[in-house]
Amino acid sequence: MSVQTLNPPAPSAAPARSRGAAVELRNVSHWYGNVVAVNDVSFSLGPGITGLLGPNGAGKSTLLHMLAGFLAPSAGEVLVDGRPAWKNPEMYRSLGLVPEREAVYPYLTAYEFALMNARLHRLPDPEAAAERAIDIVDLRAAMHRKIGGYSKGMRQRAKIAGALVHEPRIVLLDEPFNGMDPAQRMQMMELLRGLAEQGKTILISTHILEELHHLANNVLVVVAGRLAASGHFREIRRLMTDRPHTFTLRSSDDRRLAAALMANASVQGVELGAQEITVRTAERVGFAQYLPRAAREAGITLYEVRPTDESLESVFSYLVKR
Ligand code: ADP
Repeated sequence: MSVQTLNPPAPSAAPARSRGAAVELRNVSHWYGNVVAVNDVSFSLGPGITGLLGPNGAGKSTLLHMLAGFLAPSAGEVLVDGRPAWKNPEMYRSLGLVPEREAVYPYLTAYEFALMNARLHRLPDPEAAAERAIDIVDLRAAMHRKIGGYSKGMRQRAKIAGALVHEPRIVLLDEPFNGMDPAQRMQMMELLRGLAEQGKTILISTHILEELHHLANNVLVVVAGRLAASGHFREIRRLMTDRPHTFTLRSSDDRRLAAALMANASVQGVELGAQEITVRTAERVGFAQYLPRAAREAGITLYEVRPTDESLESVFSYLVKR
């Protein structure tokens, strides 16, 4: 499998403060027993927002945990500011991880949670640091209420406050939009853009490409532990939508319909089964327009038209096979 480097990453909206990459992975692998979770991945990141896209189980959390210094790479090097992330306590000063799981204590208030993190970092003025982080995530009005009573979006922001309390330059967020409604999403996007404008290096993992729209110019796609593609959001989207599509059809006369479809230039293959036809086309929109017209002209009634390969895994595995 080859990595598809598409367009060079678009210039970030954020000022490039650091010279060289803030974060770099060199041929990094990680295995849990027999499970290879990350397989020979290399990339580097600078200021601005980068998306880490892949289906569940692709290795995104494992990558983030290695970057955050919580997991050692089984092979290769994970570098933060040019130094290994593993067993490097200094690194915790420049990096904040917002994990996916709800580890935020429900019996604490957001302020207490941020304060606890500020004390763990041994900041000189933890109270002021906690308040500053609360303000960044816009939770001041609710900061003395218990997190257990918060909405999903507010809990997510409380987690971010905890990760920002020491003003890290690098922020890693694991599926930050999970379970959020559209208004909460918008608020989160604004928050992340604000952080990017301050020159922070931000990596956001997600299994939904559209979550990165208007947010991350640069997207890394991981599939089955490997870096399958990387490039500008638009290029990755084009790659994922331009792939061949498969439809399953049932009609009043499958044999004649199959013959009619083979005459269409966008059709790459037709398979006639006992109960249905399977069609592969390079061009979904064109095919969807052609199909009813061709059936009508041939006097055939369409009973069913069903896309057969719309699962997330099939979209990603297409990227890998290219
Ligand atoms: P993602 O974040 O993309 O969903 P993960 O990094 O959580 O992917 O998982 C990658 C692979 O590693 C999966 O096959 C998962 O089942 C496996 N895995 C993750 N954590 C562990 C663990 N602690 N022990 C064993 N296997 C694990």
